[in-house]
Amino acid sequence: MKQFDFAIIGFGIAGATITRELTLRGRSVVVIDSRKNTATAVAGGTLHPAVLRYYNKVWRADEFWPKAKLFYQSLEDEWQIPLLRTNGLVRVFASEEESSLWEEKRKDPFWHDYLSPLEQSESVSLPLIHAPHGYGMSDDFWRFDPAFLLKTYRQKLLEKGQYISAELSFNSREALYKQIMDLGVQPQGIVLAQGFQQEFWPDLPQGNPIICKQGQYLIIECPGLNITRTLKSKFFIIPLGEDRYQVGATYPRVNEPGAFEESQQRIIRDLDQLVDLPYRIVDYKTGTRPGTKDRKPILGAFKNAEDIYVINGLNSRGLLMAPLLSSWLADFMLDDKTIPEEVSINRFF
Ligand SMILES: Cc1cc2nc3c(=O)[nH]c(=O)nc-3n(C[C@H](O)[C@H](O)[C@H](O)COP(=O)(O)OP(=O)(O)OC[C@H]3O[C@@H](n4cnc5c(N)ncnc54)[C@H](O)[C@@H]3O)c2cc1C
Repeated sequence: MKQFDFAIIGFGIAGATITRELTLRGRSVVVIDSRKNTATAVAGGTLHPAVLRYYNKVWRADEFWPKAKLFYQSLEDEWQIPLLRTNGLVRVFASEEESSLWEEKRKDPFWHDYLSPLEQSESVSLPLIHAPHGYGMSDDFWRFDPAFLLKTYRQKLLEKGQYISAELSFNSREALYKQIMDLGVQPQGIVLAQGFQQEFWPDLPQGNPIICKQGQYLIIECPGLNITRTLKSKFFIIPLGEDRYQVGATYPRVNEPGAFEESQQRIIRDLDQLVDLPYRIVDYKTGTRPGTKDRKPILGAFKNAEDIYVINGLNSRGLLMAPLLSSWLADFMLDDKTIPEEVSINRFF
């Protein structure tokens, strides 16, 4: 039986970031993952601290944003593999007023760093994009390929005997430990990082707090478009190379008949208005975001199973938030520090 300090169940971005955080703090970790319906593997990989459509800052963006940048950069440095693409975002304005709003927002120090001066966008030529109201640029917009990050990390863990491919099925603490031990592993503690598929929520009076929020991207092929920066109108248009672009993501209402098709049509309508070239839909990707009623993540330990921890509820900004959330969780697990109230599991007890 191999001994580990912690077993991490689930290897999306939540599992990957808590694995790294605990490892950096000298703990031995084994990951158990089914690789089934992993939301992280279909995510667009966009990293940015703002909701540009409304010019709102993401909740606690001033903390999440710098931590995320440091985290992904440190992986890149350690692995010596290029992960991040920082070639900026082009925001296609929806109206004349939006360009004035852009300039107005730049007076605030947060937005000043994030939104480039409008003159800078004049150097960008996008002849095949229909943008009657112009566009603005953000140089501080990052993205990466989350599926590639998971694959690279998984391979490294496999080489060190720290990754087991298995699907666990449990509804009690005892069953969970038994299943892990059946895999030849004995952990001192367990972190559940299962995304929307987590069913074990012991002692929570209202039961499972996760609200599933589906999303999808269309993959299009559009020879001649030649866009290298990510574009944002109603949706993101993310260049994938070889004339392919990932367009989305949508937020269809789960369980409403026709919602999926309707949201697909919205992407197509936006594309038709925006792109002055024929394109072909070659694929689509769907995934499920793990949301919560108050739209905040869930961190902490269970009341009657204090050796079982959870990181979940990452919703639509998991890639941005997971590095700092994992750091907060590790502070709590190892140093008994308090988890910020808004994200603590205690709010459900
Ligand atoms: C279409 C779409 C686009 C998105 N784009 C972005 C984006 O651009 N930027 C951003 O920040 N966020 C984005 N998100 C949100 C982000 O993807 C999620 O917040 C994040 O991926 C959730 O990560 P997670 O680790 O909690 O869950 P997941 O990534 O779903 O990982 C959970 C893992 O647990 C495993 N698992 C579950 N149960 C078991 C079990 N019983 N036994 C073994 N393994 C198990 C699963 O197989 C899976 O691998 C997007 C989401 C969607 C759906």
